[in-house]
Amino acid sequence: MPFESAWRLKEEMISGDLDPVEHAAHVLERIRRWEGSVHAYLSLRREDEILGDTGRAVERLRSGKARPLEGLLVAVKDNIMTLDLPTTAASKMLKGFKPGYEATVVERLRAAGAIITGKTNMDEFAMGSTTELSAYGPTRNPVDLERVPGGSSGGSAAVLAYGGADLALGSDTGGSIRLPASFTGTVGLKPTYGAVSRYGLIPYANSLEQIGPMGRSVRDVALLFSVIAGWDPRDATTLRRTGWVDPENLAPLDPHSLRICTPEELLEGTDASVAKRFDSLLGELEESGAVVEEVRIPVLREALPAYYTIAMAEAASNLARYDGSLYPCRPSTRPRSWEELVERTRTECFGSEVKRRILMGVYVLSEGYRDQFYLAATRIRRLIRNAMMAATRRCIVASPTGPVPAPRLGERIGDPLKLYALDVQTVTANLAGIPSLSQPMGRVMGLPVGVQWMGPSMGEETLLRLGLLVEEVLGYGRG
Ligand code: GLN
Repeated sequence: MPFESAWRLKEEMISGDLDPVEHAAHVLERIRRWEGSVHAYLSLRREDEILGDTGRAVERLRSGKARPLEGLLVAVKDNIMTLDLPTTAASKMLKGFKPGYEATVVERLRAAGAIITGKTNMDEFAMGSTTELSAYGPTRNPVDLERVPGGSSGGSAAVLAYGGADLALGSDTGGSIRLPASFTGTVGLKPTYGAVSRYGLIPYANSLEQIGPMGRSVRDVALLFSVIAGWDPRDATTLRRTGWVDPENLAPLDPHSLRICTPEELLEGTDASVAKRFDSLLGELEESGAVVEEVRIPVLREALPAYYTIAMAEAASNLARYDGSLYPCRPSTRPRSWEELVERTRTECFGSEVKRRILMGVYVLSEGYRDQFYLAATRIRRLIRNAMMAATRRCIVASPTGPVPAPRLGERIGDPLKLYALDVQTVTANLAGIPSLSQPMGRVMGLPVGVQWMGPSMGEETLLRLGLLVEEVLGYGRG
């Protein structure tokens, strides 16, 4: 592993083998070296502030009062509100926007001793799969600069891949944490619906999305998840549950107790090379004692259209708030009426993919089309949820995280359907509300590819323990 896991860094800081200030200086140096070509950060805190915070962490570490993330550097996706840095969701609409309050997850990071480095690039309003749709220019994949890092949390994944932070937050509406993890050789978790507070998340499609942890190892993701998970009185959709996972005492799963199901529908359209890598990982798990079973869940073929129909409908409703009255972007010339203000603001301040989704979202909700599209999609969603609840009661459902390794820049954005097709495996977990973990399963044509595990609602601990089995026992680390 080119850079150490946050877990190792934490252990070394506690034992006194690693000086947090020296570590931060290294991370800052990598940011300076890589940002020019990768463009993963949209905004960065000042170096002297970061080093100052790190200095204070040293005192706590010395006095034995270290909190769970003491001295660790964490990057935050730019759709998560922060008080000290702008929050733009990579949209021109929110250029320079400084919210009046902070997201609960960010408060929790600070309370746990984390030091925030900056805000990461993403597809505008999290609508996309490659991070090419940012209003501020694309992020490139540090593994291969000609390729995309995946999206929409591509900035967070890229930062982890080049060592520009120790941990990162992303958000996942239909794959936005897991696909970037797959393309960059990192790890990401889409938590159970309701596990993590969304207070302070700029919404895209509320019934589908969650904020989640990203890292360079499974235990890193467990650590960050343990800090951000849990009930929040300011987000009534959070579950009243404590003790989601204890990263200290997380042991690899015993393969003899493991049953994996692979729905053939989730392999359709997958590149042969990726499918081969997936098969060989499953073969190894089988050899170590796991039971692997091929299953059929035909309704999963409808997951992608159902997802996009619902996501666009919710996006259209959420984005109605951007009418030119509250947020920073204004038309270039003075409008003559309220209607013109609204129209011109949206015309000039939204990117074309966001506009497409608003138009489609309004269309699928319109009288005469609502039954045919929106209601049909919600019925499919119910069937998918039932099928996945039944399946994950019996087994961990597995597939490659994405159908291909990271595409080249420009390869997919010309054709929206090709872009959407990248999410064919990931959207199921969002429709079902169940947790899903993506971790590296080796390389294909020199590029990293991920495997995704889906478990029962609130089954994060099992997924993370399976992740440890694959990473620590079978040796599928980053890289
Ligand atoms: N690519 C999917 C979309 O554009 C998912 C994005 C996400 O998870 N935020 O809707």
